[in-house]
Amino acid sequence: MSHPVPRPGVLDIPQYTMNKSVGPDPGRKLFRLSANESPFGPSSKAIEAYQEAASHLGDYPEGTSRVLREAISRAFEIDPNRIVCGAGSDVILNLLAQAFAGVGDEAISTAHGFMVFPIATSANGATNVVAPEVEFAADVDAILSKVGPRTKIVWLANPNNPTGTYLPSDEVKRLRASLPSHVLLVLDAAYSDYVSRRDYESGIELAAGTENTVVTHTFSKIHGLAALRVGWMFGPAHIVDAVNRIRPPFIVSTSAMRAAAAAIEDRAHQQMSKMHTERWRDWLIPELGRVGLKVTHSVANFVLIHFPIEPGKTAEEAHRFLTRRGLVLRPLKNYRLPHALRLTIGTEEANRLVVEALRDFMAGSPA
Ligand SMILES: *Cc1c(COP(=O)(O)O)cnc(C)c1O
Repeated sequence: MSHPVPRPGVLDIPQYTMNKSVGPDPGRKLFRLSANESPFGPSSKAIEAYQEAASHLGDYPEGTSRVLREAISRAFEIDPNRIVCGAGSDVILNLLAQAFAGVGDEAISTAHGFMVFPIATSANGATNVVAPEVEFAADVDAILSKVGPRTKIVWLANPNNPTGTYLPSDEVKRLRASLPSHVLLVLDAAYSDYVSRRDYESGIELAAGTENTVVTHTFSKIHGLAALRVGWMFGPAHIVDAVNRIRPPFIVSTSAMRAAAAAIEDRAHQQMSKMHTERWRDWLIPELGRVGLKVTHSVANFVLIHFPIEPGKTAEEAHRFLTRRGLVLRPLKNYRLPHALRLTIGTEEANRLVVEALRDFMAGSPA
């Protein structure tokens, strides 16, 4: 029997697995700590702007997302003509792969890098090349050792999801300087808003000053607008031109564009969320350590928790235990991290409950 067959690479992509919806025990409140969403949701100004847009639902959106590009341009002091907005930064990453990599090409990502990278690569027929990490962090020399004549893209989430680690800006600059100039370096800065390290830079500088680097940002994390699907990239004019040619003409809806523009202007909301995240990250890491768990040092709004491999204490068992208590973390089997869970930093209540639950779990108490 013959039927249409997808292009090479498509069926090599593993199915994206969401969390199975096993609920908590009766009477327990549910905390979703599995998708790195903001516990605060969006700015009230973003909600107002979204509601106002409801009176224009019959009209196509302005196709270049001008209002949003201008708001981003003011916030980051960058040229609005070098910004492309998209329906989530996932879509932008896919457009970059589509424009710059295809059958016969290679794209490099790191061992526990963000999963959208290999998906975007394979979906466009190109080959994934995986560079090892050191202590769950990207390693510039390991990436460089994987570069060959077919390399078209290097993907780097900085900070990375799900590890929470980051590369200092001098290392990112060394990577860029050592890569061949025809290789596109994509810096995914989804979690940059949470980082306050002096040696960190999100990638705007390299995207502004080179002909071969782009940086992507999202409204799904600190801005609390994951449901609306808005992301953007900033890069050299020729790359922006290529992406604009292949992107869908009405890629961001009017309501999403308006809400995101209002969100980026609400610095107080972002600052509040950032301070909360830092405070509870600094509390969670040593508390989890006292419970007997290893935690990878994170600069993002989540932490990677490593579990023992002995029966009774494994990540899989911890996940079941926590879920019964209404605390849903992210298992990472498909990130090749079967012994770890990713915890999104939540409200004070959620954070305290997680530590309490993990203390009970490690002590062998019942859920
Ligand atoms: C959450 C996340 C994004 C955001 O994706 P959207 O499609 O904009 O929601 C991008 N990159 C990384 C590494 C992420 O974890």
